[in-house]
Amino acid sequence: MTVSEAHAAAGEVAGLLQALVCAPSPNPPGDERAAMTVVRDYLGRVPGIEIEDVGVTPERPMLVATLHGGAGPGRTILFGGHIDTVPAGDGWTREPFGGEISAGRLFGRGASDMKGGIAGFLVALRQLAARRSEWCGTIVAHVVPDEEPGGQLGAELLLKSGRITGDAAIIAEPSGLAVFRAQKGNLFATVTFEGRSAHGSTPELGDNAVSHAARFALDVEQRLAPLLAQRRHELVGRASISVGTIRGGVRTNVVPDECVLTVDRRVLPSEDLEQATSELSRFIDGRGVVTFDHIGAAFETPAEHWLVQAAVDVVNEVRGGEVPVGGLVGSSDARFYAAGAGIPTIIIGPGTMDQAHVPDESVDIDLLISSVAVYRELALRLLGAGR
Ligand SMILES: [Zn+2]
Repeated sequence: MTVSEAHAAAGEVAGLLQALVCAPSPNPPGDERAAMTVVRDYLGRVPGIEIEDVGVTPERPMLVATLHGGAGPGRTILFGGHIDTVPAGDGWTREPFGGEISAGRLFGRGASDMKGGIAGFLVALRQLAARRSEWCGTIVAHVVPDEEPGGQLGAELLLKSGRITGDAAIIAEPSGLAVFRAQKGNLFATVTFEGRSAHGSTPELGDNAVSHAARFALDVEQRLAPLLAQRRHELVGRASISVGTIRGGVRTNVVPDECVLTVDRRVLPSEDLEQATSELSRFIDGRGVVTFDHIGAAFETPAEHWLVQAAVDVVNEVRGGEVPVGGLVGSSDARFYAAGAGIPTIIIGPGTMDQAHVPDESVDIDLLISSVAVYRELALRLLGAGR
């Protein structure tokens, strides 16, 4: 690539990200049409690409874009990203949907999480389309809705449909262009405590459900959390549990007969999900009734896997210096590829987690521009002729 081509690509990815940020897709309420139109228009100008909308409703479009190499059959690699964002929220000093560029950063909701990553792999895809004779196999890009609440109408639906196969998946969530090869899992549970109502003036005649729940919340903090914190994983840190919500009582002068509490248990790739659920049930030990509302599996792709090794080499070449290898402490759609469909998966994107979901969200433009080269070179490495 010549210097002027590189300059054009830099302007292209920043311009595309601005267009994506200026097409709000906050979730809730969940309506990705405007942002997906930007994606569709961009891909529509890429020669030879097949675009399919597999979303469940018009408000929740989901694009699958397929590009075949010109050098023959080979591996299939997937690029994935979610186009929804959390709502803008309060506390901004910039326009949340303005795409302002200042001091080497591009500002706006989704700049880091993760329209920046999507812009990066879309531009890489266009460049790869222009160089089809250099690679074999197939590249499939997924731009999905609905990741923020858990992926039910997006990646989960897509991967469970059975229509997706691949030899490797690259999810463009924020990693600061480090290679993340692991992700924590999560287990959300509701615990309902029962008591007996009585008049507030005679509490001794009742059985206070809020007190039961409060004692349980403290017990979680004092006994279970320290136990879990002893379990560590080299890439994603410690296992944990935290009480998220508590709701009980109807009036000040009524002894409450019910209190409902929710907990958030984060699971390491080295832990077994079934053991984690039964461990929590045993800890509750009949004090309340537990229901598991959400179970998201953790995953880890081995350090020696060809996908991880190629990604580390490519980022080293593009960025120079030692590339950190890490893991995602939160959760993402990557689990549907890795744990759900059994596809070797890494997370690599120009955004950073400290920018996700915060006011004045932004992305480093230097990392954004580098992400295009990382995605392009990684695809060429994985799909080079002879693979
Ligand atoms: Zn995200």
